[in-house]
Amino acid sequence: MEAIIEVKNATKIYRVGTEKIVALDNVSFTINKGDFCCLLGSSGSGKSTLLNIMAGIEKITSGDIFIKGKKITKMGEHQLAKFRQKYLGFVFQSYNLINSLTALENVELPLVFKEEPKKIRLKKSKEILGKVGLEKRLKHKPSQMSGGQQQRVGIARAFVANPEVVFADEPTGNLDSKTAKEIMGIIKQIAEERNQTIVMVTHDIEIAKFANKVIHIHDGHIERIEGEQLNEEN
Ligand code: ADP
Ligand code: MG
Repeated sequence: MEAIIEVKNATKIYRVGTEKIVALDNVSFTINKGDFCCLLGSSGSGKSTLLNIMAGIEKITSGDIFIKGKKITKMGEHQLAKFRQKYLGFVFQSYNLINSLTALENVELPLVFKEEPKKIRLKKSKEILGKVGLEKRLKHKPSQMSGGQQQRVGIARAFVANPEVVFADEPTGNLDSKTAKEIMGIIKQIAEERNQTIVMVTHDIEIAKFANKVIHIHDGHIERIEGEQLNEEN
């Protein structure tokens, strides 16, 4: 098994006025390539903080994060932005689509930033929108789609550039439970086909059932890790 993300002694302290909030307290673990990993815990346990420092969205207070062996916690802004563009994808709870753009244009965006030619952008975007079941909604704007459809666009956008790791923070948090399961099934299927790694935050044990590794977080600590396998080479 190949480690793709290593979290070493990660601590995050927020300062609010004179108060210190320890959101993460010396957390260490590894995620392997192809893992579907859920960070599971109640509200305020530190899940989003952990996801955000792993994805390079928030600065760590102490400790280190390695992705593909690269210490992202030591990268400068520009280098980190390039790294994220090349290797990482994101799915958000509130979809974060651009309202003035169609489904197809929203999905194309990561490829625009990567400066891929128009023809390739269209081919890849249509293909992934087909995979999420939206081949008939290419011209629809976000306001003309249901929440479940908007999140399908969000997933297509996260996966279109074929990132090695996709981070998702409560991606089904705004959806009913039936739609949530459909969305989870789509994410899992795409990731499995391409051997991509998923790191997902949830407070919902039903959602965590889709994962092969579940990291239980409580009060900024790891309580336990389910699905941690012994190294087969030993
Ligand atoms: P979760 O995602 O599990 O609900 P968070 O990671 O958002 O939890 O928050 C963990 C703790 O850190 C909470 O006590 C929260 O209030 C605090 N926290 C999160 N973000 C900030 C911030 N920007 N400033 C101050 N405190 C924060
Ligand atoms: Mg959160």
